[in-house]
Amino acid sequence: MEMVVEANVINQHLIDPEICIRCNTCEATCPIGAITHDDRNYVVRADVCNGCMACISPCPTGSIDNWRKMPRVRAYSIEEQLTWDELPAELPADQLEAELGTAPGDAVAPAPPNVPQPASEAGEPVFNSAQYGATTPPWSAAHAYTNLHPPKSPTTATVVGNFNCTEAGYENQTHHIVLDFGTMPFPVLEGQSIGIVPPGVDANGKPHFARQYSIASPRNGERPGYNNVSLTVKRVLEDHQGRPVRGVASNYVCDLKVGDKVQVVGPFGASFLMPNHPKSHIVMICTGTGSAPMRAMTEWRRRLRKSGKFEGGKLMLFFGARTQQELPYFGPLQTLPKDFIDINFAFSRTPGAPKRYVQDVMRERAADLIEMLKDSHAHFYVCGLKSMEEGVVLALRDVAADAGLDWDSIGAALKREGRLHLETY
Ligand SMILES: Cc1cc2nc3c(=O)[nH]c(=O)nc-3n(C[C@H](O)[C@H](O)[C@H](O)COP(=O)(O)OP(=O)(O)OC[C@H]3O[C@@H](n4cnc5c(N)ncnc54)[C@H](O)[C@@H]3O)c2cc1C
Ligand code: SF4
Ligand code: SF4
Repeated sequence: MEMVVEANVINQHLIDPEICIRCNTCEATCPIGAITHDDRNYVVRADVCNGCMACISPCPTGSIDNWRKMPRVRAYSIEEQLTWDELPAELPADQLEAELGTAPGDAVAPAPPNVPQPASEAGEPVFNSAQYGATTPPWSAAHAYTNLHPPKSPTTATVVGNFNCTEAGYENQTHHIVLDFGTMPFPVLEGQSIGIVPPGVDANGKPHFARQYSIASPRNGERPGYNNVSLTVKRVLEDHQGRPVRGVASNYVCDLKVGDKVQVVGPFGASFLMPNHPKSHIVMICTGTGSAPMRAMTEWRRRLRKSGKFEGGKLMLFFGARTQQELPYFGPLQTLPKDFIDINFAFSRTPGAPKRYVQDVMRERAADLIEMLKDSHAHFYVCGLKSMEEGVVLALRDVAADAGLDWDSIGAALKREGRLHLETY
């Protein structure tokens, strides 16, 4: 960032809505809460962003790296940015000069930090789980290719499989979809995601933006040796408030037939990656379709074990759903050997049984989790709906505190060493 010489001009930080894939990485990364979003756009608060650049390299598309010199009093508001379908053009230098009476080329400043510290009603700082999420991968992760097929030039995949992978009824269906890329290179790693571009246009007549789906298959394909990936997609038939809605992309994907062609962008994600070194441990905590990356990692470790050429560490899985019938892959999970993976289920709506959430089961397994927290070879992965994230990280904090450990230093180490990965949506 250049020196501040003109307090009336800001270098306003903006996100390009045409190529942003709404992956939430920037919002999770920004240390001071300058980024927010609605169903349509991700946007930056001009009065909060201090230009620290922490969000720039984690963004998988580069859409975050946009800056406009603006008179401070005319900075684009959040409300304006949320309506955009494309970025506004730069103000011509002479117009800026005329508005401000400054010489073109003057250095400009990002908005000054004006950081509202979130506080609870009691005045206590609010626990911010996102601050512990790593933005770098484990040191031994394989190299991830990203954005090979960017939002403006999707590639085409063919559906080669689509079936319901829950025992639940239509309302709670989750589908296992297999996409084949034919001869088009599409290298992926467990933990990455792809974007599916639904056909047609939105209510404003604009092409739909791509929705992200985590890859559920290991790096060598759902079917080893084939150029294919699998996804775990839940039909969205009600919004987060429980109101009826028909999710555009999820219903499109769940209704696909074998042989259909699909527009795909990606792959995306360069930090939610599994460790590759022998004896490394993996702790997986997920709900619902958050199981997709966990399935990919588990299956890769299962294939390595079968090869007899790799000595894996411990695998622990904490898996939550409302009922057993809604839990994707419940059947196949039961067949995995107990000495391969330590599986812990939590069901919150089983009739006649008390509600249990993943964080409850994590607390029950505190003695094992504390060993994992202390071990630099153990990596933690959290994936599922946004609402689970805080409870899970709080459970980790409590497990550490109850064992007399200092969470602040453990939490900081988990982030620094790429050992705690959060992907919630
Ligand atoms: C990195 C990343 C990975 C993801 N991985 C997966 C995955 O593996 N499997 C998967 O099924 N989804 C995954 N998602 C969510 C997915 O991208 C879509 O947001 C979801 O499928 C809804 O899209 P839609 O077009 O059907 O709904 P939209 O038409 O976009 O939304 C319709 C309404 O439903 C609400 N809504 C959106 N998502 C949900 C939801 N999940 N539950 C309840 N209400 C919702 C919206 O707020 C909106 O009001 C992931 C998201 C991200 C950011
Ligand atoms: S530049 Fe820094 S303050 Fe601004 S949005 Fe990015 S991470 Fe947040
Ligand atoms: S694509 Fe970049 S700008 Fe868009 S939500 Fe993801 S990180 Fe943020």
